[in-house]
Amino acid sequence: MAKRDYYEVLGVTKNSSKEDIKKAYRKLAIQYHPDKNPGDKEAEEKFKEASEAYEVLSDDQKKAAYDQFGFAGVDGSTGGGSQDFSSIFRDFNDIFGGTGDFSNIFDMFGFNASNPRSANSVHQGANLRYELEISFKDSIFGTKKEIQFSHNEACTSCNGTGAAGGNGRKTCPTCGGSGQIRQSQGFFSFTRTCYACSGKGSIIEKLCSECGGTGSQKKRQTIIITIPPGVENGKQVVVPRQGDASSSGGPPGDLYVVIRVKTHEYFERHNLDLYCAVPISVTQAIRGAEIYVQTLDEKRVRVKIPAGTQNGKLIRIRDEGVPINNHHGDLYLKLLVEIPTKLSKEAKKLIEELARIEGEDDSPQPIALSKIAG
Ligand SMILES: [Zn+2]
Ligand SMILES: [Zn+2]
Repeated sequence: MAKRDYYEVLGVTKNSSKEDIKKAYRKLAIQYHPDKNPGDKEAEEKFKEASEAYEVLSDDQKKAAYDQFGFAGVDGSTGGGSQDFSSIFRDFNDIFGGTGDFSNIFDMFGFNASNPRSANSVHQGANLRYELEISFKDSIFGTKKEIQFSHNEACTSCNGTGAAGGNGRKTCPTCGGSGQIRQSQGFFSFTRTCYACSGKGSIIEKLCSECGGTGSQKKRQTIIITIPPGVENGKQVVVPRQGDASSSGGPPGDLYVVIRVKTHEYFERHNLDLYCAVPISVTQAIRGAEIYVQTLDEKRVRVKIPAGTQNGKLIRIRDEGVPINNHHGDLYLKLLVEIPTKLSKEAKKLIEELARIEGEDDSPQPIALSKIAG
């Protein structure tokens, strides 16, 4: 089926204001709202069509892409069956005011609402986040670290049920056991999850005294995590099932360990290679030399500086970079020729002698910056 132009769907033009686009959508949404047209497939389609058009035209970026490339420009975000209506979902409050719970509408359409809650659904426990600072060296070569954190575990006294003795529930008096209550708001009436029983239809008769009915207890945990070589700042190491316990009988959440890498005194990383600057003297640059530098893993390596080395020259030391999967990056030394600012009487005399022998050009030919090393 051919898709209708989004502007045509909402009855607006490219130059319509955001406010006009919102008004047009609001009118259609009220007209075709599924709660006002129960069982009407055509109204449902119209509502979906208008919602999709609004999602694109209300977003500056998506609108610009649509204006330029048509449906191809916004495909992926709105095309296909699994549309992301989360932004619309957020905007509902803005458009209609109030705090309506629209999750049921989206459930009806099979959309991925941001937090679909239905009776008897089982959720994974909450994920936890832990920030771990490691040294630059550890980030390059990998390490193991012990970390301590607190998470919720299922209460041992009530097996995570929250009920004293591990059982004993009664029908929820608020919803009469259906798990849902109806609420009216403006034009609409909504079916929403019962807040008293969270949709379960039953509530605990007597709360577990150990956990106060929450079904979980805070517990301190110590684990050792393995940080792989070459880990970059901000990367996460996921430790499965070390998050909070689920309150609905689902699996525990995961622990996300966010790695923060401290900066090194002089090494810097670019992809798999390491860089640092090494100062050398004018005479070493002119005559060539052999120097010793320490690598990140504290190996002393000999480096040959060729005679006539220019300032900024990069010297590569193979395989002393980041080791990842049997592949090594390299270490680069940027040579910094240091010009002496204070000379002894004797040195001054020798330099003057050198200037006399070599001669000095008082009208040098300029060179493009791009032709200069470093
Ligand atoms: Zn209830
Ligand atoms: Zn308990």
